[in-house]
Amino acid sequence: MSNKIRKSIPQKNKVRAELQKEISSTCPFCENEDVGHFEIHHIDENPSNNTIENLLLLCPTCHSKITKGDIITNQVKEVKNKLKYRTDKIRFISVNVDSENCSWLPIEGVSNAFEAVKMKSLFPIFNFSFINQTSKTVLLTNIITRVKRLPIGLAGPDIPLPNILRPLIKYKIKLPDDAERTNTILKEEIEVPQGRAFKFQVELYHDSMDRFKPPFNKYVLFFEFCFNNDFNISIPKILLNTKEDYDKLTYYGLA
Ligand SMILES: [Zn+2]
Repeated sequence: MSNKIRKSIPQKNKVRAELQKEISSTCPFCENEDVGHFEIHHIDENPSNNTIENLLLLCPTCHSKITKGDIITNQVKEVKNKLKYRTDKIRFISVNVDSENCSWLPIEGVSNAFEAVKMKSLFPIFNFSFINQTSKTVLLTNIITRVKRLPIGLAGPDIPLPNILRPLIKYKIKLPDDAERTNTILKEEIEVPQGRAFKFQVELYHDSMDRFKPPFNKYVLFFEFCFNNDFNISIPKILLNTKEDYDKLTYYGLA
């Protein structure tokens, strides 16, 4: 099938400016800074898929390395993902489950994916880690939660673990119903000094274990953390019980 149609990128200058900002005007593969000569690469090799998620600005040398297969698609996707979660404000580091106190374990080889294994507490307890890279102290004020019952995959960035700022703060948040959005305003805001990493726990619960139904139901969790400086950070999707579905991710347009 060689009938691919190349549509020109709508609002190309605007898109290019956005892509340039994303890579901080430096080739994400080789540190080349001659950004005026950079080219736009279609990550899925489909030249008519011009969504920003499918585009990456890079130097012509690295672009031809991709074309020749010297840089493989998975490497390109990984680079794009890392750029997506990079920020000079507050940076997401990692999410883990507190396996000591709940029945969930990480699924090996898949970022941010967990499965229910033993009948302890089926309400998952997550440890979230961030780093404050702004020039001042910030307050974590709200946590927005959404849930979907679908297998979805996403790779996370690999960054060193943070120090714990003070004894772990734990929040209990009710698991929203499918497609519903919950905004939890924190009674005790977390104060995070400049340059410090911080960590806190969220335990999800549901009134009706009957409706939550782990380990049978599969969930995708979306978290967004809101800070007092009008900065919101969305973290990579969290997968629950989707182990046998990773090969279907392409089908869902998510791989
Ligand atoms: Zn390059």
